[in-house]
Amino acid sequence: LFFSFEGPEGAGKTTIVRMLKDYLTEQHVDVVATREPGGIDIAEQIRAIILHPHNERMDARTEALLYAAARRQHLVEKVIPALKEGKIVLCDRFIDSSLAYQGVARSLGIDEILAINAFAVENWMPILTIYFDIDPALGLARIRENGLREVNRLDLEKLAFHERVRDGYMMLLDRFPNRIKKVDATQSVTKVFEDVWALMEPLIRK
Ligand code: C5P
Ligand code: MG
Repeated sequence: LFFSFEGPEGAGKTTIVRMLKDYLTEQHVDVVATREPGGIDIAEQIRAIILHPHNERMDARTEALLYAAARRQHLVEKVIPALKEGKIVLCDRFIDSSLAYQGVARSLGIDEILAINAFAVENWMPILTIYFDIDPALGLARIRENGLREVNRLDLEKLAFHERVRDGYMMLLDRFPNRIKKVDATQSVTKVFEDVWALMEPLIRK
């Protein structure tokens, strides 16, 4: 079973993915937790190019193609083999990040980004995507306060960019209502975890 976790910066995806991994492992469920862009060596190298602060002149279509390339390699090397072994895969960001960031926030178009990603992912789509909803200003403030991760090129985008990312996710919720489910990421970590688990459990216990 393939699950992806989406949302703006500082929404808490990484924290919840780590908690889910620990929780499932305790229950002797085979689980792989991974992230995009990255997760394996080639894709981490592509991530470093995309997010490097010196690369602010990168063209938006170049960026979209690099994300799709990183996604493809990560899928083939890590996600598909794990799924074939019957494992649960938890992926911190997947195709919807490209649709929201490059498709909507960078105005390349959801359908255009879907097309290049269809080539990259074929039919390997998550059975459920959890969208962590938070006001981007609050998310960015969380990152600045807790220093949970390194600041990258995208954090330096204006707030308006991150607002468009959120608008993008809202459009995706409308477009893929069966696959994408929203949780309120402004709640406590415990409550967010409970909400996420309530959505995942019926699929895992089946
Ligand atoms: O926090 P995380 O590790 O997910 O950060 C990855 C960075 O890449 C974020 O700053 C995010 O804004 C950016 N990103 C992007 N387009 C994507 C995926 C991630 O701009 N398709
Ligand atoms: Mg994160």
